[in-house]
Amino acid sequence: MELQDQMSSLKGIGPKKAEALKNLNLHTLEDLIYFFPRDYENRKNIVEISNLQEGISSVIRGTVQLIVPGGSPYSRKRLLKLLVSDDSGSLEVVFFHAKYLMKSFQKGKQYIFFGKAERNYGKLQMVHPEFSRESEGQEGILPIYPLTKGISQREMRSWQKTAMPLWQEVGELVSEERLRQNRLCSISYALEHIHFPQEKQKLLEAKYRLIFDELLVLQTGLFLARQTAKESAEGTAFSKTVSVQPYIDALPYSLTGAQKRCMEEITKDLESGSVMNRLVQGDVGSGKTAVAEIAMYKAVKCGYQAVLMAPTEILARQHYEGLRTSFAAHGIKVGFLTGSMKTAEKRQTLEQLAEGTIEILIGTHAVIQPEVAFRKLGLVITDEQHRFGVNQRVRLKEKGQNPNVLVMTATPIPRTLAVVLYGDLDVSVIDELPPGRRPIRTKNFDGTRRNDCYNFVRQQLEQGRQAYVVTPLIEESEMLDAKSVQQVAEELAARFSEYRVALLYGSMKQAEKDEIMEQFYRGEIDILVATVVIEVGINVPNATVIVVENAERFGLAQLHQLRGRVGRGVHQSYCFLITEGQSEIAMQRASIMEQSSDGFFIAEEDLKLRGPGEIFGTRQHGLPDLNLSDLAKHFKILNHAKELAREILQEDPLLNAVENQPLKRRVTKFFGEDFNLNL
Ligand code: ADP
Ligand code: MG
Repeated sequence: MELQDQMSSLKGIGPKKAEALKNLNLHTLEDLIYFFPRDYENRKNIVEISNLQEGISSVIRGTVQLIVPGGSPYSRKRLLKLLVSDDSGSLEVVFFHAKYLMKSFQKGKQYIFFGKAERNYGKLQMVHPEFSRESEGQEGILPIYPLTKGISQREMRSWQKTAMPLWQEVGELVSEERLRQNRLCSISYALEHIHFPQEKQKLLEAKYRLIFDELLVLQTGLFLARQTAKESAEGTAFSKTVSVQPYIDALPYSLTGAQKRCMEEITKDLESGSVMNRLVQGDVGSGKTAVAEIAMYKAVKCGYQAVLMAPTEILARQHYEGLRTSFAAHGIKVGFLTGSMKTAEKRQTLEQLAEGTIEILIGTHAVIQPEVAFRKLGLVITDEQHRFGVNQRVRLKEKGQNPNVLVMTATPIPRTLAVVLYGDLDVSVIDELPPGRRPIRTKNFDGTRRNDCYNFVRQQLEQGRQAYVVTPLIEESEMLDAKSVQQVAEELAARFSEYRVALLYGSMKQAEKDEIMEQFYRGEIDILVATVVIEVGINVPNATVIVVENAERFGLAQLHQLRGRVGRGVHQSYCFLITEGQSEIAMQRASIMEQSSDGFFIAEEDLKLRGPGEIFGTRQHGLPDLNLSDLAKHFKILNHAKELAREILQEDPLLNAVENQPLKRRVTKFFGEDFNLNL
């Protein structure tokens, strides 16, 4: 048995199971031993049903007294209810979508259930608990793995047991001496106790070690990326004699102090002769685009091409429409590229790009496709960087020869962590809004007061303003408790029958989306009902109200981004949150939104409320997913790991030493093939 053996080399894994395991990203036995439990079931702590406490995960042992299937037998949405009892009492166990479980229970047999007890209409219940047959004879603390259809806990546990000998085969990432210095247990000990802990203390030691490893790998990768950036730092200096003043003079407004400062920092980088790697952080509406425009102007006037990549088609098009006109006034040709363009049109754009007739390209991630080639690319810009991965940023950069890099973001992450995540970039901050902006008034409405909210919207429409209404993205199965975008649109079309109401959502045809967006710009639509497709960057100054339906389903950072869609013109703007239910966290969010319009503050609060897990998903920061670690919670370990990573790389900058091979392998694996670490 070897670490690199396929999962299917284990007994009992045929093609079907192997396929299911791939859904869990389990391909090799190495993947398997690094697949950690999400929880544990402590059989030593079996609780009597009468002693169950609501809201606390517990283990019970009980006999199934009754099996009640519900729902249509033909539907996947079958319901299964069990009445389970022990000597002290009984409770109901409920499974939804339970078609696959129908044969799992027998009346009169004993089972172990592990889950949270809840009270539903006075009845004690466990919904979707983990379970196993009592006769399976497993003792002690049992791991509970995050599984997928077709794989049972029992199977997973037994495969993990089979793979036990491999724990010894895993190479240490750091020397024994360093393990001792940093009070870390050995990796084999850590693997043993993360899967099959004998006691809580050992589990904690194991977790600490594995978190440390994960963060060490992360930090090492980030350091290497920075090294790469520095090594290739020799770039072309843009001429100092080319002034950007003509472009600035032609803008319809004068730059804010913060924009000027930021622009000067960028210009200095561009003229320096070393490659620019700069992040522009600025709250929604702070005017980041203008800064990007000026930099692109400079690039073009110095004889280079520039590219601007935006995360959504709508945003890319909006940038294109705006910039095409303003650059045309300076005789500069702007091109546009997205995935949904017609082939002929695309071919023409690609040709003109290669020739150099197109001097500025604006588009979605289509601009990093292999067939896109520039004649002389000198500046690459990513807008709303937090929506892209690090890989995408790097790939865009590879389109040119050491081009200058500018990335822009509306600060969805707290300052404390930006340093870690964007550590390879210099940072400029636009901390000032254009003048004349009035703070947006934010108000939370309980769902029962929807009427009041829309009456206010009507007043705004009467004054000639426009409104956004945003609904959450929802799954079909959740239709019951959240309003679908169609439903809301129909309701509003009826309520505002004298106004023009339109609908916009992600899976609509591109042409339709564009048409609707354009009509909204031109003021031909009064109310735009949309899903979060409008979250980033859209700019319609005449829109002064944004209503967020089911606001409880959005995180703070997202609400803040949404609110940024209004307050972009001279009129007083409003953000209304309609909150259903009275969940504590939803109320807290709403009140933070009412109090603050500071993106930095909101990001910090978001972190506190949601926990970092959700914020630091890959989507938000562009890094690979972390398994056990939590960048905010484990900030100390992170710093610790950072120090060690620095030490290791100082001794062995390219990780060529024999003892560093395991680390090198883990780093490469973690960041993926196309992450340019130059290893
Ligand atoms: P963001 O930083 O969110 O990308 P934008 O670049 O979209 O912000 O700018 C928001 C709005 O503010 C736009 O309508 C833009 O034209 C306007 N704007 C930008 N800079 C200024 C300024 N210095 N004075 C007045 N309006 C400005
Ligand atoms: Mg923007």
